[in-house]
Amino acid sequence: MAFYISARCPECGAPARHPEGVFTFKCPFCASVLRIKDDGTFLKYIIPARISPADAPLAVKRAMAEGKAGGLKSVRKIITFYKPFWYCKGMLFFAYAEEVLAAPAPLMDENNPPPPHEFTAAIRDAEPAAAVLAKSWSHTFAANPGLAAPLLSLGIQAEVLTLEPYDSERYTEALVAPITVDKTAAEKTAMTVAMNNMNMERKRYSYSRLNFIGEKYFIIYYPVLAAVCEAQDGHTTVLLDGINGNFIAAVPGKEIIGETASWERSTSRFSLITHRCPNCGHDLEPGGFNIVFYCLSCFSLWLLDGSDYRRLPKKTLKSAAIQETVYIPFWRFTLDLENTVSGEKYRTAGELAKLVKGGDLYLRGIPPGNPIVFYLPALTASNATAALKLATRICGAQKELPYDDMEELPYARFQGASLPLEEARQMLPVVAFSVIGRTDRKTVSFYNSMAVRDTSAELVWYPFEEKGTMLVDQFLGFNVAKRGMAPPDY
Ligand SMILES: [Zn+2]
Ligand SMILES: [Zn+2]
Repeated sequence: MAFYISARCPECGAPARHPEGVFTFKCPFCASVLRIKDDGTFLKYIIPARISPADAPLAVKRAMAEGKAGGLKSVRKIITFYKPFWYCKGMLFFAYAEEVLAAPAPLMDENNPPPPHEFTAAIRDAEPAAAVLAKSWSHTFAANPGLAAPLLSLGIQAEVLTLEPYDSERYTEALVAPITVDKTAAEKTAMTVAMNNMNMERKRYSYSRLNFIGEKYFIIYYPVLAAVCEAQDGHTTVLLDGINGNFIAAVPGKEIIGETASWERSTSRFSLITHRCPNCGHDLEPGGFNIVFYCLSCFSLWLLDGSDYRRLPKKTLKSAAIQETVYIPFWRFTLDLENTVSGEKYRTAGELAKLVKGGDLYLRGIPPGNPIVFYLPALTASNATAALKLATRICGAQKELPYDDMEELPYARFQGASLPLEEARQMLPVVAFSVIGRTDRKTVSFYNSMAVRDTSAELVWYPFEEKGTMLVDQFLGFNVAKRGMAPPDY
């Protein structure tokens, strides 16, 4: 699911339409490179009402004719208000091991595959007892469930609409309902719904862990018309969809919003600013969901961290291919694994070899004293399963990968990074689990008390050879679909 936002370009005043979630883009009119200013919270959008209060009486009559509301005598008052919804999206990973009950595992239905964005697959098909399910996922739910309660979610109706940034100064006249489910509560709700969405029962496994990674939360204000009607016995309020005029519900009483509550009054700003190199002032290239930018004028590399640009060293791994090399960004971690119950630590490739299933065989050529190094794609990839498989293969191999000493990045062949460090860190336990791959009781109990601590983290670009629609890892020789590494289309 993707939303489009219509905002005004600060340089030329033209409507600068862009997909939700992008950080930077080019104004289609004046070609200024723009960035959405981050105020450290979450973005709020609004879908302006399309139904005018003058249309409401007819819609009420229609609802009565259709038998949806009855006993209404006359419309007394009509107000338009905006109900907030949380919208969240990201990658879901459900890791599970050792079935404790004899119930069949959910199988993939070959004849009825899931929608293309739901790449659901077991990592170890042959051993379903230790697997990770991964998918890109999005969801909406009410951020003020008490108000216009029957309107539970936005479903797909918002998908085709263009949203506007909610700026309280521009919407001073609008009746905007307060957010009663704060972000922390929203995160909890999202995890519960996500768990149900994975269609997995946690209690069936002696180990399970759900991670929502690269996730984003924002608010969408949706228009609702309330027609307060005089009924045979008191008042009834008819709620209408502010976009299409459809009947939502008829609720007894005339209080649109509880007497103790009030309309939202807090300030909320949205602004676009220019996106320029902090070193030389040249326009940086717009990069959609990217958080890392390369200056084509002074060859400096920048990480956008909230509102700050932080200079990054240019690090790539040495490419073996002469041509057609595509560079994919990875977070490179050196890390320790720890059993927090027993205190046992795993710090070297040799120690990891003892922990990983078949490790003595797979890691026999690796110097046992090497630190444990993990590479995780720095992408919110469209195919979360492919990203996880790729990470599992690279991390499972523990191969020493040589750095290149490049002065300039071959920009055209670089893919932008979109997964912040913190999110990549959250993915470490998922990948560690996937790499270890054991299902014996002792290891399963280790999963339950496993802590992953990174001692260093840096962004490096990993070379792949481009072969048609596939990318081939030059160190380990396996393939990954180019499309799966592209940004998601939720
Ligand atoms: Zn412009
Ligand atoms: Zn520059």
